[in-house]
Amino acid sequence: MLTEPLSALTARTLQACGATTSLDVAGGMEVVSPLTGETVASVTPQSAADAEAAVSRAAVAFRHWRMVPGPRRGELVRLFAEELRASKEDLGRMVSIEAGKSPSEGAGEVQEMIDICDFAVGLSRQLYGLTIATERPGHRMMETWHPLGVVGIITAFNFPCAPWCWNAALALVCGDPVVWKPSEKTPLTALACQAVFERAVERFGDDAPEGLSQVLVGGPALGEVLTDSPSVALISATGSTRMGRIVGPRVAERFGRCILELGGNNAGIVCPSADLDMALRAIAFGAMGTAGQRCTTMRRLFVHENIYDQIVPALQKAYASVSVGNPLETQALVGPLIDGAAFEAMQDALGEARALGGRVHGGARESVGPESAFYVKPALVEMPEQAGPVLRETFAPILYVMTYSDFDDVLEAHNAVGGGLSSSIFTTDLREMELFLSARGSDCGIANVNIGTSGAEIGGAFGGEKETGGGRESGSDAWRAYMRRATNTINYSRELPLAQGVVFDID
Ligand code: NAD
Repeated sequence: MLTEPLSALTARTLQACGATTSLDVAGGMEVVSPLTGETVASVTPQSAADAEAAVSRAAVAFRHWRMVPGPRRGELVRLFAEELRASKEDLGRMVSIEAGKSPSEGAGEVQEMIDICDFAVGLSRQLYGLTIATERPGHRMMETWHPLGVVGIITAFNFPCAPWCWNAALALVCGDPVVWKPSEKTPLTALACQAVFERAVERFGDDAPEGLSQVLVGGPALGEVLTDSPSVALISATGSTRMGRIVGPRVAERFGRCILELGGNNAGIVCPSADLDMALRAIAFGAMGTAGQRCTTMRRLFVHENIYDQIVPALQKAYASVSVGNPLETQALVGPLIDGAAFEAMQDALGEARALGGRVHGGARESVGPESAFYVKPALVEMPEQAGPVLRETFAPILYVMTYSDFDDVLEAHNAVGGGLSSSIFTTDLREMELFLSARGSDCGIANVNIGTSGAEIGGAFGGEKETGGGRESGSDAWRAYMRRATNTINYSRELPLAQGVVFDID
């Protein structure tokens, strides 16, 4: 049991990170913890004018930061990683308070920030281009990469800090200032991150201009300022497909660059040769972990008809016995839903599934917290076919289970939804595995074998296709989106040969 009120724990945690807040800000925006449904703080929301001013400050900062050498920019990110290590426990607790995650998952999210910072520090010495063969004698052709400009980062409630850092750590070493609009449901974690970042800036010294990293507290209207501002070179927006449908076209309208990280409808396939014990554990974490509120949560499961009676009863047992409760007070594996709207959406989806002949196991509200908090038993739904709510993302712990008999058919069913984020196959059959990973296999940005759909590492590029938005951030060569590429051709000869043999001789 907590020995102090949640609001006091919140204030203490924020203070430990270097940020301050209050319970009672006049005209403030209330921050509600899903753990108890109580208001734990209130923060002053910013206006559209504040957002515009932040973008202007960032644009000025860019003029200085782009000229600081890459490895020196990396030094700031290295210092930030040190500060994150020192504040890992506090930031992790802030994530638990605001998003309802277990301490282990909260700490894991901060660890992801540390990991991407370490990656970015190395990257700061590797922002290199190519030397390319040229058809013209006495010429050299090459590619150079330059800082892009201000990066606007919009993030979702369910990962209150890691996606910011996936973007910010790369943007900063690439020479770009960042302006962050976190979810209006989780502003405190953002303010805490900003305070930790400022500690790194203080140690770094004068090379870091004012406005290098800023946070905008408020609702979608502030995100719209970033979206529409011609001074924001790149928008990286994480959230629902609904939000992406608004942001994407608006950024395109002004020819801005956009990384969209949107919703998924992730599936697993369990084949006859699968290691069933391993599959069971991977599915349980993928579908019930973080109370089904990960973009990569497993939402659909296709089980081969020959093993359906082995794995589905075992899953039902796991679902019935999983512990649900306040993860700061108990060892519960499943925490709360973010709010009442999420609970309603879950119940609506289960109602639709029932009407289509689905057999629902679980899904009811659990009386393990106050009336104002929304704890539910995760739901396993045996569906006769892939229809209705199975075709869309409901951001709650619902796993729809279906059978299959033919491998080609299941590949088709797997891909027959709008989301294209993450996917898994459980098999020890080499042919099935390779087909799943092949051009006619999973059409998702993430395709895994014998592990679940969630829990990606920072080393790979993260993102998905179709209604997930097509963006990539984090590892691999995702850094290129944060820089502009120039192709340079240098003539060191005494002639002027034209490409493609074109002749244009003047007297
Ligand atoms: P949301 O779309 O409601 O909000 C996300 C962010 O977008 C918030 O900061 C919000 O203020 C902002 N926003 C909303 N409308 C906007 C507009 N018109 N212009 C500019 N900004 C706007 O999403 P949510 O409920 O916070 O998060 C859950 C969703 O996010 C799920 O669909 C989940 O799959 C998705 N998600 C995706 C990823 C990914 O990497 N693909 C990661 C986490 C969450």
